[in-house]
Amino acid sequence: MIFKNFINNEWCDAQNCKTFDVINPFTERVITNVPASDEKDVAIAVEAAKNAFYDWSNLTAGERRDHLRALANRSREYAEEIAKTISSEMGKPYKDALTEIDDLAEYLEYYSELARDQVGRMVAPVDQKSMSLVRYEPYGVVGCIIPWNYPLSLMGWKLAPALAAGNTIIMKPSEITSLSILHWAELVVGDMPSGVINVITGFGGEAGEALVKHPQVPIITFTGSVRTGKRIAKLAADNLKKVSLELGGKDPVIVCDDADIEVAAKGTSWGGFVNSGQVCTSVERVYVYDSVVSRFTEALVEEAKKVRLGDPMDDDVDIGPMASESQFNNTINKVRLAKEQGGRVLTGGKRSDQFDSGYFYEPTVFDNITSEMDIVTEESFSPVIPIQKVASMSEAVEMANSTKYGLGCTIFTKDIERALTAADKIKSGTVCINSPLMENIAAPFGGMKQSGIGREHGVEALEEFREAKHIFIDYDHNKKDWWFGEEDQ
Ligand code: NAD
Repeated sequence: MIFKNFINNEWCDAQNCKTFDVINPFTERVITNVPASDEKDVAIAVEAAKNAFYDWSNLTAGERRDHLRALANRSREYAEEIAKTISSEMGKPYKDALTEIDDLAEYLEYYSELARDQVGRMVAPVDQKSMSLVRYEPYGVVGCIIPWNYPLSLMGWKLAPALAAGNTIIMKPSEITSLSILHWAELVVGDMPSGVINVITGFGGEAGEALVKHPQVPIITFTGSVRTGKRIAKLAADNLKKVSLELGGKDPVIVCDDADIEVAAKGTSWGGFVNSGQVCTSVERVYVYDSVVSRFTEALVEEAKKVRLGDPMDDDVDIGPMASESQFNNTINKVRLAKEQGGRVLTGGKRSDQFDSGYFYEPTVFDNITSEMDIVTEESFSPVIPIQKVASMSEAVEMANSTKYGLGCTIFTKDIERALTAADKIKSGTVCINSPLMENIAAPFGGMKQSGIGREHGVEALEEFREAKHIFIDYDHNKKDWWFGEEDQ
């Protein structure tokens, strides 16, 4: 495996020769180290991506489609190797890591076709002998900054529409999952034209900020925390560059009195604990009608106890360790605070003692929760589910809308009219009915309020990476009623 920056289809160390360690969260041992890049490396990568832009953007959409399909095919061909790297680097079960590669390949295929279809439009002319064409053009060099929880999938969400639209890219992976992206680049990207895809590793405050500040990068697409999103928006304002932000969530689940309690408990458990709760659309709050709260709580606790923790490479494991020591400590602190503020742990609430090493945290369910507690108002990004009871849908909707976040929401009920009426009032980018965490590549994904700006997936993602240009054509050579000093003809 090559542990260097990938620029212009070549491998290079950081100019400052600095590196940082990549840690396996299961063994807690150093795997290797990767470049700690800074603004010098960003400048070199920008030059490469800028030079590649003219040729790449001038390919026909069909030619770009062929390149993206080849990337998809090669990603699938090397899925097992790449998935192993993801598992060792961030603790995700291998079988879940494999689905990430499939996701990435699907994005590449979907956008390569969509971009052939959605090239522009013609709108009604302003007079008889004129035409108005609307053409969509790529921005140029796209700076992509991604997190660690789904490194390959989330890379695909940005890379596929950005490239299909005709941009070239610089990818800055999270410092926790640099290897996954570098390994993918090594196995998959070599046959792409030089400079179209570049990867530089490093810390957010150095490599990330240098990318955001670079004047020749007109657009930044970011996925990560609200705090970093705000910082990026401020920095980008200096050059008035376009920013799209996919940020954190505090997704609620509403369990109605007519819900299938078994389905609701299983769905809530999966939605709250999959990937050790490290999903932007994780179930982070549950509001249950008081008539079913004890039945639901009992069922959820049972489900939480069934979750199998273990070596990410084992087939029969549901969740691995948390991705890093800092994520693990974050969970410990959030649970401690929730207990101090009066929350009662019904199951979990501590490090798992089943293993000699690894950042394992037990799936945790709380009750005795009030709305002002941090565990209800702030994203935990942990396998922790707090339950509160509600008397009605209007109370549930009010509580669901009560945080600064607005990414997703799930409602469990058999009454679809009730669910759709509530969905109208929920301020979030996605509302799922009877199934949590559902996405559709063809439907927009993103956040309202402080959960983000812009959308990924669907035709909306393609629009994020293109600018509209109006081309006006006048083909009446005789009539020029705006000529000075002449009478209208
Ligand atoms: P983070 O904000 O700490 O880091 C994300 C990325 O930003 C990393 O690559 C990091 O190096 C970089 N970064 C950090 N500081 C930076 C700066 N000042 N300038 C430029 N780049 C900087 O987030 P994280 O811990 O990696 O990811 C977890 C967060 O991501 C959670 O809040 C989660 O909800 C969110 N997330 C959102 C979505 C979504 O689609 N809405 C998806 C996944 C994760």
